[in-house]
Amino acid sequence: MRARGYAPFAASPENDALLDSIVARAEPGRAAVFDLDGCLFDTRPRQVRIFRELAAQQGWAQLCSVREEHFLDWSLRTTMLNAGIAPDWVEAHEPLVRAWWEKCFFSSPYVIYDHAMPGAPSLVRAVWERGAQVVYLTGRDIAMVPGTEIALRAFGFPYNAVRTSLLMKPRFDMDDTEFKEGALESIADLGPTTIYLDNEPANLNIYKRRHPNAHVVFVETDHSPRPDEPGPTIPWLRSFWRTR
Ligand SMILES: [Mg+2]
Repeated sequence: MRARGYAPFAASPENDALLDSIVARAEPGRAAVFDLDGCLFDTRPRQVRIFRELAAQQGWAQLCSVREEHFLDWSLRTTMLNAGIAPDWVEAHEPLVRAWWEKCFFSSPYVIYDHAMPGAPSLVRAVWERGAQVVYLTGRDIAMVPGTEIALRAFGFPYNAVRTSLLMKPRFDMDDTEFKEGALESIADLGPTTIYLDNEPANLNIYKRRHPNAHVVFVETDHSPRPDEPGPTIPWLRSFWRTR
């Protein structure tokens, strides 16, 4: 089953209970690991910004019609078609749009355009205030540190404080899942990881197999085209927004 896409304000009593269960697992001597893109952060505003810049540079007004709700998966072709752009134009221009998108999306200056998922900073603060180690574990590479730090601080995530750390790939070309698999083992000295949130099923499944007692939670936004699905014991979090 595929994730249904971003729904940042989709609150429900069941979702509240899942958020409560995450906080309840936080305690001193334990680590709570949070992914960034598509998990704590909504990357769609970054992507809209990237489209608008290209539109302005090239005079391609049609790209200004792309809005957040048009991003349903990782296909920019699908995104542009969802925005009502003519299929012929999309076909002819997709490689140029893709090249610009890749140059910008994976760079430090653009991550400041992300928005925190509503409610996510409160959840991470609650976990941190209960004494757990907060680890931000991301497939971003270290060249993206400056923008990532700005965004974490701007939205009020605990950062640059005791019991917080940011783990990023040493090289852009490393595979995200391989990097995270190694990084999760490398933080064992912080204490057992009891909470792990990510929007990429493959990452969650690997961790859950090795640590069946950890609270591993799938954040339902978007994810890569890999065929992996979250394992049957992994709960799905629809949003960080509460009814109460
Ligand atoms: Mg992610």
